[in-house]
Amino acid sequence: MENYKKIINDIYLEIKNIDDIGKVARYIPELATVSPDNFGVYITTIQKDSFGVGDCDKKFSIQSISKVLSLTLAYRFEGIKLWDRVDVEPSGNPFNSLLQLEADLGKPRNPFINSGAIVVCDVLVSHLKNPKKDFLDFCREIANNPTLNYNEKVAESEKITGYRNIALCNFIKSFGNIKNNVEDVLDFYFHICSLEMSCKELSEIALFLANDNFTTHKGNKVLTNSQAKRVNAILLTCGFYDESGEFAFRVGLPGKSGVGGGILAIHPDKYCIVVWSPKLNLKGNSYKGMLFLEKFTTKTTSSIF
Ligand code: GLN
Repeated sequence: MENYKKIINDIYLEIKNIDDIGKVARYIPELATVSPDNFGVYITTIQKDSFGVGDCDKKFSIQSISKVLSLTLAYRFEGIKLWDRVDVEPSGNPFNSLLQLEADLGKPRNPFINSGAIVVCDVLVSHLKNPKKDFLDFCREIANNPTLNYNEKVAESEKITGYRNIALCNFIKSFGNIKNNVEDVLDFYFHICSLEMSCKELSEIALFLANDNFTTHKGNKVLTNSQAKRVNAILLTCGFYDESGEFAFRVGLPGKSGVGGGILAIHPDKYCIVVWSPKLNLKGNSYKGMLFLEKFTTKTTSSIF
């Protein structure tokens, strides 16, 4: 851990004031109100050693990183049947693309693009009595953190401007791959995207993907080891949309980004690390976040490859 601490501090100082070519997401108006200068990093190891720098305790909108948690809960309910509804192939297309859905007859390429996550939300709406409350309870249990919550302002802001997601959900429903009411599924989707966490909280909630022996404080295992391996595999191949290859190439860890500027990366058997910097590159991934993690895995020689 001492080694990690020094390297994290050094990289933080090295890139804190670089010329960041990214831009804060504006298509969800509420996200544009966040200061672009926020920059935080937090690492939690499977031994629960931890270290953070910068704005690592400030909550931010985790956006698409919540797709890891919704997939996890749906996988628990459905097991391998889930893959009849959503595939596990990289899409090579932007996160909000409608392009492939027509040829693929409404079956999204993977659960980490919007179309796939919307189908996963539909699966959860079918299983949960009170989807928003029950999903939050699930997150609070694995994080051992009763303070986790949605940001209603962000959810509302996305709902008002959610033309693409509304189109995706309706289009998939036309193929029969959405079983519930479109409004209910989207309301749930917009809420899970609005979940707020700090870098610290996010690094802790993902530990079940790094630690084979993880159980919640209530003694529950979150996924079987085989399921956790598969979720990590999808993260590696699909976690950054049409930049997934680039992230694997430069960083070499399973991970997930969100348009709030967060990136979660997982080193199975070692640690979870989260970087938050709201300015995004053209593919919708945090510019500084990717740069930080590339330097981190290079200097610590701790990628999975
Ligand atoms: N809520 C965002 C959307 O649906 C999530 C996208 C993202 O973080 N890449 O557009």
